[in-house]
Amino acid sequence: MSNDLPQCSTVERVQLRSALRDLPAYKPGKSAAVAGSLVHKLSSNENPYPPLPSVQEVVAEAAAGINLYPDMTCGAVTEAVADRWDVPAASVSFGAGSVEVASQIVRAVAGEGDEVIFAWRSFEAYPILTGLAGATAVHVPLTEDERHDLPAMAAAVTDRTRVIFVCTPNNPTGTSVTTGELHTFMEAVPQDVLVVIDEAYVHFNVDPAAAQGIDFFRAYPNVLILHTFSKAYGLAGLRIGYAIAPDYVSAALRAVAIPFGVSALAQKAALASLEAEDEIEARISALVAEREKLHRRLARIGWSVVASEANFVWLRTGEATQELEEIFTKAGVIVRAYPSDGIRISIGTAEANKKALQTAKDAFTHFTSITRSAGER
Ligand SMILES: *Cc1c(COP(=O)(O)O)cnc(C)c1O
Repeated sequence: MSNDLPQCSTVERVQLRSALRDLPAYKPGKSAAVAGSLVHKLSSNENPYPPLPSVQEVVAEAAAGINLYPDMTCGAVTEAVADRWDVPAASVSFGAGSVEVASQIVRAVAGEGDEVIFAWRSFEAYPILTGLAGATAVHVPLTEDERHDLPAMAAAVTDRTRVIFVCTPNNPTGTSVTTGELHTFMEAVPQDVLVVIDEAYVHFNVDPAAAQGIDFFRAYPNVLILHTFSKAYGLAGLRIGYAIAPDYVSAALRAVAIPFGVSALAQKAALASLEAEDEIEARISALVAEREKLHRRLARIGWSVVASEANFVWLRTGEATQELEEIFTKAGVIVRAYPSDGIRISIGTAEANKKALQTAKDAFTHFTSITRSAGER
């Protein structure tokens, strides 16, 4: 048997970038469908409310135009965001979710040999985006009380630092940085380093001492704030987020953005959501009330839980994490487990939260017996 084709065994593999080798994988929250029926998916910080009727209407209308490319400039929604925050339109830029905007930021500002600083544990996209850009990730551990250690982050700055992510409220611990802390930090950071204030959960933050990113954008020349429509606005499935930044930085983000990355459906839904602030606010208040209730009850069970300013709560479960995750899964509550660190539970419907609380009670009994026997060893 002979032919002229090359033998498969000698075919070489294409060469992938070495940066991909050590990249941590982004783990999406487990989906409810995989685990079966009657489960509550509290693993991705999604908004449990269905889209607003007004939003569904514009999306259905816009669906008739999907044979056409969207407005690449995101013109109408740019104007609306600029109005909402009273900033120049030139300072507003969009991406397919704020994760995509974060990716634009790192690609525009950091490359091989540069350093990107963030707290750890924080949003798991940061190390991935940093690694993809070929830059070096600098993880600064959270404090004992699950907060950003801003003095340590400022001390980690070198002449190779290009970007610092400050995630407030922090995913997955829910803690926020205070106005005073952030001013002290900003004064210590060189002004040629971009400070990204990631406020994905800012709408759920009711702490009067918490820093408001927009004030820092106005006060310092090197601040960018990152907002998303995925969480409070409930548009996670449509992929739209934005940055407010110095205009020349916004121009750089647009330059590295994937052309036509934000669909017309997403742009129109975001615009309609901005016009429905009252309805959105009512939903946010209800979610915040559920969060506070869950927090209080978890504490009453005995869990040592830090106050969360986001739409989730954080249990520091350490080495018991995987065992406890199984207890939740078996009970039909899908949570997000970070092995050897903790478990994040998103705020869902009242029914889902109740189930999560019941399960957390059983989990606490296991947790104390696991930690006790570990202590005896
Ligand atoms: C969810 C989240 C985002 C944004 O998600 P998108 O859906 O891409 O807008 C950004 N930052 C943090 C910290 C998040 O948790």
